[in-house]
Amino acid sequence: MTDLVLALDFGGTKIAAALVDPSGAVVRSSRVPTPASDPWDAVVSVVSSVVRGEAVSGVGIGSAGPVDTVAGTVSPINVPSWQAFPLRSAVSSLFPDVPVELAGDGVCMALGEHWRGAGQGSRFMVGLVVSTGVGGGLVLDGRPFGGRTGNAGHIGHIVVEPDGELCTCGGRGCVETVAGGPRMVAWARRAGWQAPDDADAAVLAAAALAGDEIPLEAFDRAGQAVGMAIAGAAAVCDLELAVIGGGVAQAGELLFEPVRRALKTYAGLSYLAGLEVRAARLGGEAGLVGAAALVR
Ligand SMILES: [Zn+2]
Repeated sequence: MTDLVLALDFGGTKIAAALVDPSGAVVRSSRVPTPASDPWDAVVSVVSSVVRGEAVSGVGIGSAGPVDTVAGTVSPINVPSWQAFPLRSAVSSLFPDVPVELAGDGVCMALGEHWRGAGQGSRFMVGLVVSTGVGGGLVLDGRPFGGRTGNAGHIGHIVVEPDGELCTCGGRGCVETVAGGPRMVAWARRAGWQAPDDADAAVLAAAALAGDEIPLEAFDRAGQAVGMAIAGAAAVCDLELAVIGGGVAQAGELLFEPVRRALKTYAGLSYLAGLEVRAARLGGEAGLVGAAALVR
């Protein structure tokens, strides 16, 4: 019997697969851009390029959400051709003799960091991906917590500005509308930042590091918003740790300093005194490692 698990990470922009060993190390992996149509063919192709006929003892799937872990379906916002697509049973048809588990990508990121990354040793943590959007997932008592349908931990949709901008979720003033990379750039432009046409969060970070005041304020707002959300989630779930990854978090202290400052203001309860914030360590691999952990 093999010890290798197949991990699949299905996202709106890329599909990745990996063979993961019992220590959580990636033995080999492959990724392809998510095609505009027929993403299933791409899934089969990337999976077979990784498996190469080898036996696996289980398959863990992390998918962009929303997911429905009861029905085994996924409806990724950026993949209109997949609405309630039965991803778990489709993957099971490729691997009929082994367990196949499905979770949201935020849960898998958190679980990966908990197993092999910055969350090692913690029992109650939230993982955040601050990128184009703001995703997240919970590990509670050392186990992934998906809630009723697998979507718990959507920390990017905690409201931090009651009269804020409309969000992709249909709500208003969510963390994502302040701390998502394109939202930060758009805010800085409106505030008068003279940016190149193709400016993204990395360009914004470079300008902030050079001392440009508006980009600095954009990161300050984003960090404050993320910190407020972490404080709220930590109060509700009695967390000890938040692990933050994603493209915007690559800016390091530009984001982490205002996050920590916000926690001093908003995480006031005595049981949150030791609440820690750490940078994610596994990068894009966290989702794959976490997906493998689902069947560990
Ligand atoms: Zn929202």
